[in-house]
Amino acid sequence: MRSEFLPFFKPLLSDAEINEVVETLRSGWLTTGPRTKRFEEEFADFVGAKYAIAVNSATAALHLGLDAVGVKAGDEVLVPTYTFAATAEVVNYFGAVPVLVDCEPGQFNLDLGQLERLITPRTKAIIPVDIAGEAPDMDVLLEIAARHNLKVVEDAAHAIPAKYKGRWVGTLSDLTAFSFYANKNITTGEGGMLTTDNEEYADRARIMSLHGISKDAWKRYTSTGSWYYEILQPGFKYNMTDVAAALGLHQLQRCFEMQQRREAIVEQYDAAFEEMPEVEIPPRSAYNQSAWHLYLLRLNLDTLKIDRNEFLDKLKAANIGFSVHYIPLHMHPYYREKFDYRPDSFPVAALNYRRVVTLPLYPAMSNQDVRDVIEAVQAIVDENRA
Ligand SMILES: *Cc1c(COP(=O)(O)O)cnc(C)c1O
Repeated sequence: MRSEFLPFFKPLLSDAEINEVVETLRSGWLTTGPRTKRFEEEFADFVGAKYAIAVNSATAALHLGLDAVGVKAGDEVLVPTYTFAATAEVVNYFGAVPVLVDCEPGQFNLDLGQLERLITPRTKAIIPVDIAGEAPDMDVLLEIAARHNLKVVEDAAHAIPAKYKGRWVGTLSDLTAFSFYANKNITTGEGGMLTTDNEEYADRARIMSLHGISKDAWKRYTSTGSWYYEILQPGFKYNMTDVAAALGLHQLQRCFEMQQRREAIVEQYDAAFEEMPEVEIPPRSAYNQSAWHLYLLRLNLDTLKIDRNEFLDKLKAANIGFSVHYIPLHMHPYYREKFDYRPDSFPVAALNYRRVVTLPLYPAMSNQDVRDVIEAVQAIVDENRA
């Protein structure tokens, strides 16, 4: 057994990131400036989107995305129940109603077959979430959205670098939100990006991201900027800092290298766990290239005499960090009480939640770390067969 605790996540920062941050500090330009602009351009190029707006979180990006498509109080927005708090809370910001959607049977992504049943005259938008870095079947989703005149704001917090049928996530939906939170595939500590091909959405989001003041407000303190500005809308304070962008520039450059390491670890996990009837490896589609943000292992509970929580206790005792993605939104007090949900209001999500263990998966893991995780899972299963 490991003598040292293996954390669930550790970022992989090289000297390039550290030096760029130091140079940023020495440059005297700490907030939104030349590095943020460069990061936006390089990110837009990377995913092939026309516009990219750097912000201080994916939550901010989702909020700006919904604002850009005109979500208003009383509107309904379809949101998977199997996601993080942020995906639905941004709907609440508008006084709009998040309408929850169950997972597709056997899967983690939302059940596209249920969307049409949930659409009403008040439905304005859908927020699909690319769980673990895999987009749902976007052709089907976009066709439903187009038929009902709904906007699609994609939560791609897990999905860089990810492809759907050969196309980069970031170009599929009306707007796409990425996260650079500390434990995401590429990080700026805190940060996010909103991408779109629609100029109107991009203009609106950029203005709203910085107090609703006229274009390129950040330039007012440069030699080429103007002191004059106008407040066009009551906006928000969502701009990215150059200190964060300094990290992002190099994380983006190393994105593929870090991705290769993620894929190698996934292969090792799959090879070990595929053989074990007590667990189920993560689902994957034939057409996606997953960003493999998370490794979602599910327990086959009827083959074990312990439940998932006891499994987690034993992992912890073996010095292996873990997480659980996700406690479905409808099982949290706020949503449960407000909408009178029971766990089986969304039975597929509830079952996923009862079975899932998120194993450590990050490029800073050594081969020994990976072997330790595999051995710990095997040992717990061996000792607890039903
Ligand atoms: C991390 C995460 C977010 C929020 O990202 P922030 O950058 O922390 O705001 C949103 N949705 C999902 C699915 C996430 O995992």
